[in-house]
Amino acid sequence: MKIVHVASELFPYMKTGGLADAVAALGVSLAENGHEVSVFVPGYRAALEHKDAAGAERKLRLKVEMADDFLSGDVRVFSPRKNLKVHLICREEFFDRRNPYGNGERDYEDNADRFIFFCKAVVEMLRLGDLQADVVHCHDWQAALLPLLLREAERRHNVTLALKTIFTIHNIAFQGVFPAKTFARTNLPDELNQMDGLEYYSQINLMKGGILFSDRVTTVSPRYAQEIQTPEFGCGLDGVVQTRADDIVGLLNGVDNSVWNPAVDPLLPARYSAVNLSGKAVCRTELLKRCGFAPDFKGPIFGMVARLTEQKGIDLLLANQDFFLAHEVRFVVLGSGDKRMEQELRDLTAAAPQKVYLCAKLDEAMSHLIEAGSDFFLMPSIFEPCGLNQMYSQVYGTVPIVSRVGGLADTVTDADAEPGRGTGLMCDPNAASLRDALHRALSLAADKPRFAAVQQRAMARDFSWKVAAAGYERLYQDAL
Ligand code: ADP
Repeated sequence: MKIVHVASELFPYMKTGGLADAVAALGVSLAENGHEVSVFVPGYRAALEHKDAAGAERKLRLKVEMADDFLSGDVRVFSPRKNLKVHLICREEFFDRRNPYGNGERDYEDNADRFIFFCKAVVEMLRLGDLQADVVHCHDWQAALLPLLLREAERRHNVTLALKTIFTIHNIAFQGVFPAKTFARTNLPDELNQMDGLEYYSQINLMKGGILFSDRVTTVSPRYAQEIQTPEFGCGLDGVVQTRADDIVGLLNGVDNSVWNPAVDPLLPARYSAVNLSGKAVCRTELLKRCGFAPDFKGPIFGMVARLTEQKGIDLLLANQDFFLAHEVRFVVLGSGDKRMEQELRDLTAAAPQKVYLCAKLDEAMSHLIEAGSDFFLMPSIFEPCGLNQMYSQVYGTVPIVSRVGGLADTVTDADAEPGRGTGLMCDPNAASLRDALHRALSLAADKPRFAAVQQRAMARDFSWKVAAAGYERLYQDAL
């Protein structure tokens, strides 16, 4: 198949979260399986400066219609591996920036123009480059206009640009909502600016367009596909998602096991596998040292790696801070973000520096060391479209403690509820239920044979992208 992916992030050229990893791993897996894959991303400064882009070929000069203006741009193409082409949509004014969406404080004022331009440029490239895609697969709000723009261009020019379109929701909390006047920039027919189109409470909502006008909709876990049809998780789009209930499917992201694999991980002080866990003990000692704790500590270590946001359940942990003070445990957090949460974690660290450690920055090596050196990994998210860390922790033999939402519920089984199958501990997304899970963790840690059995089951799970990519292949074939 000829498969086109359109996204605002692609590892290693631009990454702010799981989206970049998912698009990259899916693209590579499909290319390895012999499909012809093209990925379109904005030509951000970091992407253009990446060594892979050094020999990029300037394919096309673009004139993109935006309301009454025509904006110029160009497309640069390089191929990082067989069957895989990366197309950078370039326009300095929009994309020659360090950060993709905002300056850290606020989103950029021109985000609507930037991503409408991006989607239109992709359509122009599909048309003028004659790519003849079987499937155009769009990710999140930044690419959500593609299905509408493609069909409009096909109508105007009387051509077929793509047989089917797929839209994947990686996080419904970000929808691309802009003032009503923005609609003119799309040059779409006015009837698409109605309640059954992009219109959304007197504004426009780009993600709504992707959900309504693509041939199939996917989410990054089966449970999330159900959850976003409810007011609790739908962020205002639950009714819209419900209208596509027959066409929506949840496909779990996978783990890139060339990066996240304790048997080969170069970021660890020692490597290990399920049959020989001695390397995990070396990682544990190193982690304790890095945090300034006594290296011979024998009790349970609780680790966490997360953006500090409401989504990740940081407040549920803070509500349970006395747990970490009252018991002989260690608590290590790697993460930055919300300033208030960061300060409260800092205060907790100051209250018990011999037990609690906060590393408030981005640190790839530390994230691997926490996954490997901890006994329990904490991820009590309020909502979680898929989540990667709970899968990493199972692969690394670290028992995840997760809330029963989204991809967490799909990838972890509770060891108390299902003693023969459990790979972790689960709670509801509230402080009392998390407290109960933390106490159950203490009991599990105290029962060495039971802990080892949970750990072995976790390490035996297959979260590889092979499984994930096969799911997408079936979906594409089914849609075609
Ligand atoms: P999300 O995409 O919602 O942030 P995921 O669990 O899907 O959550 O993926 C988060 C990714 O970002 C993981 O690979 C995680 O290890 C990484 N990460 C988060 N915070 C940090 C940090 N401070 N340093 C290093 N890696 C981090």
